[in-house]
Parts: sequence; C-alpha cells; structure tokens
Amino acid sequence: MTEFGGITLALSKGRIFEETLPLLAAAGIVPTEDPETSRKLILATNRPDVRLVIIRATDTPTYVQYGAADMGIAGKDVLIEHGGADLYQPLDLNIAKCRMCVAVPRGFDYEAAVRRGARIRVATKYIQTARDHFASKGMHVDLIKLYGSMELAPLVGLADAIVDLVSSGGTLRANGLVEVEDILAVSSRLIVNQASLKLKHDLLQPVIDAFAGAIKP
Ligand code: ATP
Ligand code: MG
Repeated sequence: MTEFGGITLALSKGRIFEETLPLLAAAGIVPTEDPETSRKLILATNRPDVRLVIIRATDTPTYVQYGAADMGIAGKDVLIEHGGADLYQPLDLNIAKCRMCVAVPRGFDYEAAVRRGARIRVATKYIQTARDHFASKGMHVDLIKLYGSMELAPLVGLADAIVDLVSSGGTLRANGLVEVEDILAVSSRLIVNQASLKLKHDLLQPVIDAFAGAIKP
C-alpha cells in the first residue's frame, strides 16, 4: 500500500463526477484531467494534497469504509445497498437526483396483483431496498438480482416488475413500462472515513465546509 498524506476523494465517472465539479471548485479543487478521456484511475488536481480516485459507483462506500479513500460521493441507493456501516455521512449534496420506483409493463395490473396477494417476480440491482419495500407492504415477491438494463427483464419474461432508478422516465417509456410505485427519493451524499476525519481533520473539514456552502437547493 502506498502512503499519500493528502485527501483521496473517491468518485464515479459520469453524472456524479460532472455534478461534483462545481462543489470541488468551491473548495478550490480543479481536476487536471477528465476521467472520460483519461484512462488513469488516480487523477491529480491543481492541489498537490488532493487526488481523485475514479471507481464504479457501487464501490465508493467500500473504498471509504476501508480508508483507501478519505471521502467519497455516493448515491443513497448505493449507500442503502452497502449497508452504510462505519461511514460518516455529513452532507446530502443534492446532486444526481432521481427516484427509486417499481415499474411494470403497460397493461400489467399491478394493483390487482397486490390486492389478490399474487407472488410476483421482481428484477433489480437493488435487492435490499426492494426487499424492505415489499416486506413493508406485506407482499411476497421473488427477487432476481441483475447488474444493469433492468428494463429488459419484463419484456422477455424474466420478471413481472422491476425496481429501478428513474429520472425523466424516458427509458421506461421507450420500453413500454410504467411507474406504479414510488419507493424513495435519491440524491448523492458525501461520505467520510471516520479515522481520516480524526487524523486529517484540518485538511478534510475545510473541504466539507466548502461543499456545504455550495449545495444547491
Ligand atoms: P453504470 O451505469 O456504469 O452501470 P451505475 O448505474 O452504478 O453504473 P451511474 O449510472 O453513473 O452508475 O449512477 C451513479 C449514481 O447516480 C447512482 O448510484 C444514482 O445515485 C444516480 N443515478 C442513477 N441514475 C440516475 C438518473 N437517471 N438520474 C439521476 N441520477 C441517477
Ligand atoms: Mg447507470
């Protein structure tokens, strides 16, 4: 393991990276490379004491939990699935906003299935969230774990319904699906390793404060 005495911030590329740029700027941090064009997984910034590690969104809590990254930015969806153990979550950054919902093929009478207590098959990447949701409704479901493109599952008979993230609803519509239940509002949070916060408090706290001051309502 290599020693880097500064701040290591874990981010996923795509919307989280893009929407974090203004927050970083507020903390005086400007990446010197773009993760979309660079193949490097460790990106330098204008500040020698701040570096970024670029990882899959679902891996962010793991890097921060083990202290491989001091801080990270992760969606509430990812944090719930991870379990959130030992992670300090000081800020809802109000970025990468979407919602978790249940969707079914247009024409599938979800309400009727719920009323008659039918056992339905649900495909999702979000097993924990889905399990909690259907349990709270007293519904019996068979959950099928997928890693992406959940919208396909009901179209080819793999599942009756999906639990997925939606923002505009365009992907659902394009695949003949409709949202039938809202589960939870999702945005991304700042997560901080507890030991880092103690050991590197003077480095981390100003960044946390700058992020806090730059959050858009
Ligand atoms: P991949 O798309 O590469 O499989 P991923 O879905 O884990 O990976 P992103 O699509 O970049 O990664 O999503 C990262 C985070 O952004 C999610 O965890 C979620 O919190 C949020 N997010 C996902 N989809 C949307 C969306 N349509 N609109 C806004 N935010 C979203
Ligand atoms: Mg995605």
